[in-house]
Amino acid sequence: MAKYTDSVCRLCRREGQKLFLKGDRCFTNKCAIDRRPYPPGMHGQSRGKKPTEFSLQLREKQKARRIYGVLEKQFRGYFTKAARQQGMTGENLLRLLESRLDNVVYRLGFASSRPESRQLVTHGHITVNGKRVDIASYLVSVGEVISIKESSRKNNRIKEMAETLKDRAVPAWLSLDVNNLAGTVINLPSRDDIQIPIEEHLIVEKYSR
Ligand code: SF4
Repeated sequence: MAKYTDSVCRLCRREGQKLFLKGDRCFTNKCAIDRRPYPPGMHGQSRGKKPTEFSLQLREKQKARRIYGVLEKQFRGYFTKAARQQGMTGENLLRLLESRLDNVVYRLGFASSRPESRQLVTHGHITVNGKRVDIASYLVSVGEVISIKESSRKNNRIKEMAETLKDRAVPAWLSLDVNNLAGTVINLPSRDDIQIPIEEHLIVEKYSR
């Protein structure tokens, strides 16, 4: 399966906005999009053409894929699943993406970026209801408890992270128990709970062509 190996900051510059893929660095003046606010590549600074409807839809889909770190085939799979569910397909799609275990670990503050949270999951540091789950795309359910594995709490990076948790605000659909490094899924998120700069109707239009 193809894996993106180039600089992730190029992805933000391509989309013209911060996608927060590098954790703490994204909040410093080293952020590439603050220093070079134009698309990457030799034509990045030339005046672009007016975007077509197709290109707007494509960019919105790419942006969502990049925020959540999902490859094309998997993203299409989420769309198919979302379209089969009751309710608005776009909202269903975002709910599925938000329910991924790597995203939940990020939202709970156990990692400073989604790429870092994915690594925590795949390296086996995360449990769901007390059992180790190392699949980043695992979809959480209401009532599940996501925590840092007991034996991983001695890890220096995780200790540093634990220090920052008390100041961390978590979304309303999750609750965080700072002392036990554990979070509970109270509800699956509604659209209002998902604070990301995505116009999901453009993605729905793209796949409905
Ligand atoms: Fe994007 Fe973060 Fe890189 Fe800035 S530092 S361009 S927000 S990944």
